[in-house]
Amino acid sequence: MTFAALPLAEPIQRALAGRGYETPSPIQAQAIPPLIEGRDLLGCAQTGTGKTAAFCLPILHRLQENNRRPKAKSARVLILTPTRELATQVGKSMEAYGEFLNIKTALVFGGVGQGPQVRALRPGVDVLVACPGRLEDLIDQGHVTLSGVEFIVLDEADRMLDMGFVKPVKRIVAQVPKQRQSLFFSATMAPSVRELANSILKDPVSVTIEPEVKTSESVSQRVCFIKREDKRSLLKELLEELPEGELAIVFGRTKYGSDKLARWITQQGIKAEAIHGNRSQSQRDKTLDRFRAGKVPVLVATDVAARGVDVKAVTLVINFDLPNEPDAYVHRIGRTGRAEATGHAVSFCSEEEVEYLRDIERLIEMSLPIDTEQAYHEPNYAADLAQMHSRGQQGKKGRRSGGGGNRRGGGGQRRGNGGGNHRNQGGGNRNQGGGERRGNNQNRSSNRRRRAKV
Ligand code: AMP
Repeated sequence: MTFAALPLAEPIQRALAGRGYETPSPIQAQAIPPLIEGRDLLGCAQTGTGKTAAFCLPILHRLQENNRRPKAKSARVLILTPTRELATQVGKSMEAYGEFLNIKTALVFGGVGQGPQVRALRPGVDVLVACPGRLEDLIDQGHVTLSGVEFIVLDEADRMLDMGFVKPVKRIVAQVPKQRQSLFFSATMAPSVRELANSILKDPVSVTIEPEVKTSESVSQRVCFIKREDKRSLLKELLEELPEGELAIVFGRTKYGSDKLARWITQQGIKAEAIHGNRSQSQRDKTLDRFRAGKVPVLVATDVAARGVDVKAVTLVINFDLPNEPDAYVHRIGRTGRAEATGHAVSFCSEEEVEYLRDIERLIEMSLPIDTEQAYHEPNYAADLAQMHSRGQQGKKGRRSGGGGNRRGGGGQRRGNGGGNHRNQGGGNRNQGGGERRGNNQNRSSNRRRRAKV
């Protein structure tokens, strides 16, 4: 299927052609037709699947079909996002796809002065992309009303719940007229997420896009069992191998730690900057601009700050610290392998983090290949960790099977052929042997055997 086969208005088709988009991604192919018909939508998908265009394109189409001026201090479309970065990204996408339509977009989020946001909203806008906290502030002060909203989108709803926005989101939705089209996107569908979706959507079409395809085919993954004190040295080696023109994101757990790490990387002669919630919006924007332009090839980020960072040249994600929430792992590695590109995700795991690794592997339903070639791999240490790890896996499996099997719905091995061979396997250098990227079951089982032997 091509975009031309979708009943999208000509100016939208032109904008897509200008960006070189030819084929709709699966979520776009499934979501756009019912959205054009006015249906509500429940989308289970994460970034990297093309979900932003999946909701922007049909909304733009419907806006221009029924072209009318927005009400003052209001918007025809309200898109709620958990973070400023994602809001900015979505706003940019709307403007890009609406390039040939006369669409006015405004952004509302905290961390910056509210004056310009209030002024932008005064005459009314077509599309408002907002984070819940600041939006509620502006509503309370009488600068915004939601009475003119015809479309509401909740993007990355699971993350909004994680960040404690459930009440603000409910209060905001309650102010949107009942006569509306509602779209709800989430990477995961925990009961609390589903409950929120049910309270917002009317007879929705459901579209589920498994993240597996993206994860397994375009991002190679591996874990390095490593002592905490060796992590910096291995990081330096990996960053020094980063080819010219490619970018890397290094994930740390804390804001303080990320700042320190960025300073240390810079001292090693590799330009790095940190991005996290303690930095002002303009600092974050400037850092992202320098990163995008390749002036600073390494970004050190915390989970929240990295959401919405969509930079195609990111070929390497390093989990310097493993996330304690397994979902975050999926989001982190989704920063690489964007669109048609391929990427590499390397996770450092020290003794303290074995439990986190176990949770991640349960969520993604695959064992990460162990990198035994990396310079800081110590067979005895790695064997201890592998043992701790597999003991835990068995323990959890035992408990789970008592309760009815796999928590993802008994689908067994859903990852297709994605065991993930990757550049480093048996090769040492990340840049060697790049041909084979699609793993297969044989690779996976040999990885397991490798692990057993380590
Ligand atoms: P998203 O999942 O919305 O964050 O999109 C991931 C990336 O894919 C973004 O860089 C988009 O610009 C790009 N993209 C989305 N849809 C398409 C498409 N149909 N063809 C090519 N690139 C796309």
